[in-house]
Amino acid sequence: MQVTKRRDTPCELALRSALHRKGLRFRVDRNPIPRIRSRADVVFVRARVAVFVDGCFWHSCPQHGTVPKANRRWWRDKLAANRERDARVTALLSSLGWKVFRVWAHEVPEAATTRIVPEVRARRGSRSKS
Ligand SMILES: [Zn+2]
Repeated sequence: MQVTKRRDTPCELALRSALHRKGLRFRVDRNPIPRIRSRADVVFVRARVAVFVDGCFWHSCPQHGTVPKANRRWWRDKLAANRERDARVTALLSSLGWKVFRVWAHEVPEAATTRIVPEVRARRGSRSKS
């Protein structure tokens, strides 16, 4: 199952340029590890930090998530499956030593950057250069 995913949404672009302005370099739209099929929107390979930008509808944002009225039951299951998969991917990556950030599409990029940048710098600094 693949969630319909557009690349380069305005939110992703804004976040990427905010991170770039902080001097960070990263991969875009990559599987953090081959075992998972979910691509993270931003991946810091050496720091092992993965950032997922989650759309408010597809990932059931608490503020803007809705269930369409038509085919309500189908949508409910579909959206629940998405949430479960998000949780599974986050748990798997965390268990492998990755730090996962999930950023809502409605979030102000600078706010997300404030959370992400110190973590990337700290993890990059503390790791050996392997
Ligand atoms: Zn939202």
